[in-house]
Amino acid sequence: MTEITDAEVEKLYSKLKKEAEESGYFLNPDIEFTKGLVRSLLINEQRYGYWACPCRLAAGIKEKDLDIICPCDYRDADLNEFGTCYCALYVSEEVAKGKKQVSSIPERRNQKKLVEQNTPLLGNLKYPVWRCKVCGYLCARDQPPLVCPICKAKQERFERMI
Ligand code: SF4
Repeated sequence: MTEITDAEVEKLYSKLKKEAEESGYFLNPDIEFTKGLVRSLLINEQRYGYWACPCRLAAGIKEKDLDIICPCDYRDADLNEFGTCYCALYVSEEVAKGKKQVSSIPERRNQKKLVEQNTPLLGNLKYPVWRCKVCGYLCARDQPPLVCPICKAKQERFERMI
């Protein structure tokens, strides 16, 4: 493995920040902490070939790690409920603006595995289906996105279809 340079970290940090801001998300305002996570993403990219979540143990097999490739499947649900993703790379607007403090949060990945083991699937669907009432965008996931990727309508404009 080659050493990750500060310039590489800076470049990815700027890219993620820009993308987050354009999509209604927020990176953690603690810049040094956030850059540490960004460095870990780059290390994991070298190690596995993809951005495995910096604070979870990856299997190193992409198919097994798909749910924890950053941004992970659990980001939006954790932002909604706790104001931060599991690693605190992404935070809610309230947290980003210093109106709310974050604390440690439970690992949603384990909860999901337990639910999957113990609950029969609804028909053949693994996730609920959400529809943006503004533009009709559909997505199947635990919760609707914070912001519609198509028309940028906020989460409250989504309805559950199935
Ligand atoms: S917990 Fe945060 S940093 Fe980790 S994969 Fe999910 S979104 Fe990325």
